[in-house]
Amino acid sequence: MTDTIGAGLGPLAQAEKEYLMQTFKRQPLELVRGDRWNVYDPEGREFLDFVAGIAVNVLGHNHPALVEAVTRQAKDAIHVSDLYYSRPQVELAKRLNELGFKGRVFYANSGAEANECAFKVARKWGKENRYGAFDIISTNQSFHGRTLATVAATGQPKYQKPFLPMPTGFGHVGYNDIAALKEATDERTVAVLLEPVQGESGIVPATKEYMTAVRQWCDDKNLLLIFDEVQTGVGRTGHFYAFQGYDVVPDIVTLAKGLGGGVPIGVCLAGPRADVLAHGDHGSTFGGNPLACAAALAVIDTIERDGVIENARVVGAYLEQRLRQLADEFGCVAEVRGAGLMVAMLLDRDIAGELEAAALEHGLLVNAIGPRVIRMVPPLIIGKAEVDRAIDILAQSLDLILGQVGLPRPQAPA
Ligand code: PLP
Repeated sequence: MTDTIGAGLGPLAQAEKEYLMQTFKRQPLELVRGDRWNVYDPEGREFLDFVAGIAVNVLGHNHPALVEAVTRQAKDAIHVSDLYYSRPQVELAKRLNELGFKGRVFYANSGAEANECAFKVARKWGKENRYGAFDIISTNQSFHGRTLATVAATGQPKYQKPFLPMPTGFGHVGYNDIAALKEATDERTVAVLLEPVQGESGIVPATKEYMTAVRQWCDDKNLLLIFDEVQTGVGRTGHFYAFQGYDVVPDIVTLAKGLGGGVPIGVCLAGPRADVLAHGDHGSTFGGNPLACAAALAVIDTIERDGVIENARVVGAYLEQRLRQLADEFGCVAEVRGAGLMVAMLLDRDIAGELEAAALEHGLLVNAIGPRVIRMVPPLIIGKAEVDRAIDILAQSLDLILGQVGLPRPQAPA
């Protein structure tokens, strides 16, 4: 075993560079195995996983219920075409209704694809209900995916710049700013697209007043309201659908990341007002295959049986509380914010990358999003003991970094 994490990476890193498009900047770590909230490198070192595949592994790694469901389904049929009926598809759609959104489902394989479906629904609905209106208004700093249309919907020019010109029909206004939305709405507007909590740009929750006002505005102006719950959905914020925490129901909702617990699946649910797609309007070869649906059904069964959503709420509140204690101890932690187990720690200086690296060295995976924000989206099954372990590592890491840059180290209380 080498002493330094990532020391044995050389040939793999070289081959990655040779054979894979260089779209991802990787941490110096190979992961080969996981168990609940821990992941392991080839040499057996253990890391506490507060990244969870970026909010994907809601049941952690290697969860017996998920492994059993996927194994059982794989023995029957991994894939059958949507040309035929498939029971897991129907069962999953029914469960998604029972969990709190009345609507019909289109199955895709990722968050971006789920959103693409929502855009097509909105455009068709605009033709039939709003004289051909097709503009979708989303928000600055939003994130909706990496296909061309979802990049156009994403309110971050850096993702668009290399690929200009963008597809038309997308505009952006300030988040949590109802006046800006009203100002931007015109006769071409067909829908408003929102994340209930902005994920990629630093875990920024919408306010309740804003969500209520947006719903009212969409009703007043005959617009569709689309919630992108690709990251917030499936219990992440302490509700199955994050909108349940706001008492605001959209016309369309999209889910992906957590739904299959790691098996790729995306869904677009359209409520009765928006349910306009008909035979031939949309499709996906893999979408809703029995393997992905069986995985999602096992995730939902487990969430319900084990009280996972309640756990996300309780342990999420504990994580925020412990991070606030850390902020009291270390002046460089400026703010802590989040919802459920979707939590960000904001720093007052550009050390997020260093902190991510130091935490990794000490056995904790967290995700630096931008120079000053650390995102934590752990499995929803962690307990308070895992939070305590993470806080200890963050404290050690901050201590190290502050020492390195010559800033005062926190003093232990007398
Ligand atoms: N929408 C939101 C809110 C997301 O956070 C993401 C991914 O991070 C996406 C859409 C895109 O999902 P995918 O990467 O599965 O296409």
